[in-house]
Amino acid sequence: ARDACPTLLSVVAPVYDEQELVEEFVARTCAAAADYELELVIVNDGSTDGTPELLDRIAAADERVRVIHLSRNFGHQAALTAGLEHAVGDVVAMIDADLQDPPELIPDMIAQWSQGADVVYAVRKKREGETAFKLATASWFYKLFDKLAQVDLEPNSGDFRLLDRRALDALLAMTERSRFLRGMTVWVGFNQTAVPYQRDARHAGETKY
Ligand code: UDP
Ligand code: MG
Repeated sequence: ARDACPTLLSVVAPVYDEQELVEEFVARTCAAAADYELELVIVNDGSTDGTPELLDRIAAADERVRVIHLSRNFGHQAALTAGLEHAVGDVVAMIDADLQDPPELIPDMIAQWSQGADVVYAVRKKREGETAFKLATASWFYKLFDKLAQVDLEPNSGDFRLLDRRALDALLAMTERSRFLRGMTVWVGFNQTAVPYQRDARHAGETKY
């Protein structure tokens, strides 16, 4: 059986031009993880706004926050992978920084981990502030993916996931260059468990995808 709390929780978030919401993201994540030993790994994916300086200032003031600056914009999946490679926690959560993934769900995900789940994926019950186009294309994507891929990816589960170290190490051992992390976290096996949540609208700014 596992402990109720990880020894060290790593939270990994990629950010690209998010100066309006970085501080709020860090504040909410640190508050949500107040009961845990926390390492917050933020990957600056080649931001060209005030994000890099803001992140350096936050990291200088809070020893839990670590910042990785990429040399240019590599895209969400590559940035997230870089963060996962640097995370040292025995439990690692991956989350978007725009607060569409509520950090307050992390304790529920950890509760599932302490019950034995190795991969805990958040499943969106409702998506606020998304366009009809985004909802339709997302729905087509999950249907097509289900037909083509030999991976049972839960519809409406994104990259908001929490992994035990053994699942993360298996994921990081995969040498795929074009990485689809949510699918890969399922493919590695182990015990998989869902946690439902409501997907909020973006806290600020616009979609970078
Ligand atoms: N992001 C990134 N690099 C990119 C695009 C996005 O690091 O090239 C980050 C972005 O700052 C956010 C997360 O990835 O924290 C998800 O991006 P976004 O919210 O734009 O995607 P959506 O929710 O619209 O799918
Ligand atoms: Mg978003």
